[in-house]
Amino acid sequence: MNGLKMSLPDRALESKEYVGALKKCLINEWQHCYELRSSQWTRRMIPHVQISLPEDMCFFLAQALSGHGCFRQYRHRIGKPISPAFPCGSGENESPSHIFENCPRFKEGRPDAMNVEDAATCRYMRKVMKNLWEEENGPHSIV
Ligand SMILES: [Zn+2]
Repeated sequence: MNGLKMSLPDRALESKEYVGALKKCLINEWQHCYELRSSQWTRRMIPHVQISLPEDMCFFLAQALSGHGCFRQYRHRIGKPISPAFPCGSGENESPSHIFENCPRFKEGRPDAMNVEDAATCRYMRKVMKNLWEEENGPHSIV
């Protein structure tokens, strides 16, 4: 019993093969846990745990990919006294999908497709999140 629900590789394997098989098992287990615990938006943006981002992770990119933070839908969900609807007049909730893919307010610089393996997408997400952060917290909040 290994305490994990994953199966371990055959112990009869040679050391190198065993390590390779073990890495594969761990990545599969990580992927399984990730799919159970991450949001639909996050899984859509990062379908596999082994994707590498072309940009360094930062506070704003983490918010964009998690869907937490400045999004009105999220702030409403955690009990902030704010409407989940976005003031752009679309009638949609301010979700990550709305902001990054549909909202006319953030159309400028929007990539044709959201692909986090493309640096342009990461830069766009970071820029939009900084704008949302500044709207929520004031211009002094961005350094
Ligand atoms: Zn909008």
